[in-house]
Amino acid sequence: MQPADNGSRADRPDLSAFEGVDFSEAEHRNIIIIGSGPAGFTAALYAARANLEPLLFQGPEAGGQLVTTTDVENYPGFPDGVLGPDMMLKFEAQAKRFGADVRYGTVTTVDFSQRPFRLMVDGTKPFLADAVIISTGASARYLGLENEKRLLGHGVSACATCDGAFFRDQKLALVGGGDTAMEESLFLTRFATDVYVIHRRDSLRASKIMQARAKANQKIHFIWDTVVEDVLGEKEVEGVVLRNLKTGETSTLDVGGFFVAIGHKPNTGIFKGWLDMDELGYIRTRPDSTYTNIAGVFASGDAQDHVYRQAVTAAGTGCMAAIDAERWLAENPPAEAPETVEAASRARPGNSTGS
Ligand code: NDP
Repeated sequence: MQPADNGSRADRPDLSAFEGVDFSEAEHRNIIIIGSGPAGFTAALYAARANLEPLLFQGPEAGGQLVTTTDVENYPGFPDGVLGPDMMLKFEAQAKRFGADVRYGTVTTVDFSQRPFRLMVDGTKPFLADAVIISTGASARYLGLENEKRLLGHGVSACATCDGAFFRDQKLALVGGGDTAMEESLFLTRFATDVYVIHRRDSLRASKIMQARAKANQKIHFIWDTVVEDVLGEKEVEGVVLRNLKTGETSTLDVGGFFVAIGHKPNTGIFKGWLDMDELGYIRTRPDSTYTNIAGVFASGDAQDHVYRQAVTAAGTGCMAAIDAERWLAENPPAEAPETVEAASRARPGNSTGS
């Protein structure tokens, strides 16, 4: 298997981290799951129940995006809602109950050119896996303001679908000018009295149809050529400080919530050069499956989904990835000695390459 070579896959993988590393003593697992959000833990639950003894690595954002949310009211099965961090503890406990091995560690380099696949954890610890499930998620982009971080989950949010309903009859501010900003501001009008969309330019990046919808909504007010310089509030958001880029004038806008909609970034950097991705870095999966372009590597959750991005959809694709991996492993049992992915594919007629 040659590293992928088109479009966003152009960067060749840097395998220098593997140089001189002795993999003969490395821990060898049936399945390694990378990432610990709803997708990763659901994949771990299903793989554990299939007796595949999965190992799951929790990376730097253990628990995923839900640990930065407060109440989750749209996950089925919790009629009274559940706190995001509590929900992730429940996900973890359920996966562990069936034997999933959950460890802290960041997968820093992968080598998908041969089976078993080679993974480096925290830059120094080598692991081998017959199948890999990627559920590294995506991270919302934030402005980087100190008070924005401090008030995250207390009026600052990057997910209107998750948190909009907590702001009934309030005035809200939202920053961004793309499709997400339009979609989220429209969603927020279901609850808020007014939504102020703050954009740094005087024209939107969003598609024409989304712009038209937002502009037609009486509750949405645009504040052009303006940036957010600070978020105000002791325990909850009480306002934002704005600066007009054309006049330099600063002002305060009183709002009960502040939504950031300036894009997401999939956490897929370590897979560049191996996996097919779109221009934004989301992993491409084969339709109706979690197969990537490399046989034995499966992708689930927000790392491959920039459309739905919900906990429940991530959990759904995590389940799919475990089932895909289980079936694929049954059809492609590990060889005695390491073999190239290409050879592995050739050796077994009917083997799916996932491409
Ligand atoms: P985009 O990158 O399209 O837009 C990000 C917006 O945030 C831009 O308006 C940008 O401003 C602004 N922005 C970025 N950084 C900052 C900053 N530091 N300060 C202030 N403003 C900032 O991201 P989206 O999440 O909106 O969309 C991502 C992709 O997903 C797009 O391809 C989009 O079309 C798609 N999408 C489609 C949807 C649909 O079809 N229903 C819904 C949601 C997303 P500027 O314009 O000045 O660069």
